Amino acid sequence: MGRTYNIVSIPGDGIGPETNGAAVRVLEAVAEKYGFEPRITEYKAGGCAIDAFGVPLPGETLHAAQDSDAVLLGAVGGPRWDMIEAERRPEQAILGLRQGMHLYANLRPATLQKELGDVSPLKDPGDIDLLIVRELTGGIYFGKQGSYKSSEKLFDGTRKGVIAFDTETYSEAEITRILRRGFEFAMKRRKKLTLVDKANVLNTSRFWRKIAQDLAPEYPEVEMEYLYVDNCSMQLVSRPSTFDVIVTSNMFGDILSDLAGQITGSVGLLPSASLGNPGMPGLFEPIHGSAPDIAGQKKANPIASILSVQLMLKLHLGEKDAAESISQAVRKTLAEGARTPDIAVHGDEGSKSKIILVNTDEMTDRIIANLE
Ligand code: NAD
Repeated sequence: MGRTYNIVSIPGDGIGPETNGAAVRVLEAVAEKYGFEPRITEYKAGGCAIDAFGVPLPGETLHAAQDSDAVLLGAVGGPRWDMIEAERRPEQAILGLRQGMHLYANLRPATLQKELGDVSPLKDPGDIDLLIVRELTGGIYFGKQGSYKSSEKLFDGTRKGVIAFDTETYSEAEITRILRRGFEFAMKRRKKLTLVDKANVLNTSRFWRKIAQDLAPEYPEVEMEYLYVDNCSMQLVSRPSTFDVIVTSNMFGDILSDLAGQITGSVGLLPSASLGNPGMPGLFEPIHGSAPDIAGQKKANPIASILSVQLMLKLHLGEKDAAESISQAVRKTLAEGARTPDIAVHGDEGSKSKIILVNTDEMTDRIIANLE
């Protein structure tokens, strides 16, 4: 067989094994149809790795991820490991993978499936089809932080006491590479790029704007929009269908992608991709966590994980036909009325009448049966 890909599967904790298992089944089924071979090997990370090896990201998992073509991740974490000190917690596995694999661009598409219009909390959502490009390795999450005791006072004479601080830092190189990704994605889509920042207050944001303005002439077809993050939050709710690609810093992207996710219905529907430089392995995972409240009950919606496979095939491995097959199979399955509990709760009586309540495995079976 010609095209083979080394895929590292990391199911993780909670619903991770259920949703990642569904994604692996769909990957194997679509590969058979489209004539390529995914060589899938499974590794531990997160809470289950702490239980087995005492660390959230064992060296063998990281090395396998670094040597792979792509990583498919479920989710990590859960109350069982919440009492562990911060640097050994399951979530460190994700940060370790991002850093160790040099992943700096987090892509979060948010698309409202037409069949799920009634699941959106918005009254008239329109056609939502946007892509958030979030910087992943810089900014306030990685800047200098600490605390110190201060002798300063507030205006009323109260002692300030201890002061805690975090620092937002961004280099020209970090901003340039993520902005270029934003422009390139806009060129492949509807040619609109929105830079989200807080340039009215933050120095780093003004730096982002300056670099974006310097790069824009290289992409004359791309319409640029500049929005402050507070305004963008309002606009995402009031006119979501007017956004195409949004590019933004680590923290703003973190917050806005959850907002964008919610207006399309459920976190159980949204995939993500984390990419480094071209030619490097990418990491593909749903945006949701390990959902301990529904773990082991087959209630988890597998679509976010299945669409993460779709992103992997489309953006990273160049298997565009297979990717399209997954997209259409998901749309068809939803159009037939199949709903896991998270997307069966809203809606009017008219649409409820054709709803078929399914569990994780049944949803996956139906999607596989609908692959063309
Ligand atoms: P969560 O995303 O796990 O769950 C939030 C809510 O969404 C819950 O009600 C859950 O039942 C529901 N939900 C999530 N995924 C779903 C799916 N596929 N189908 C149906 N419903 C779904 O977020 P949380 O509760 O804040 O976090 C739980 C654990 O996950 C924590 O330990 C957290 O640190 C971890 N976490 C991990 C990741 C990751 O691995 N990338 C991301 C976020 C949170």
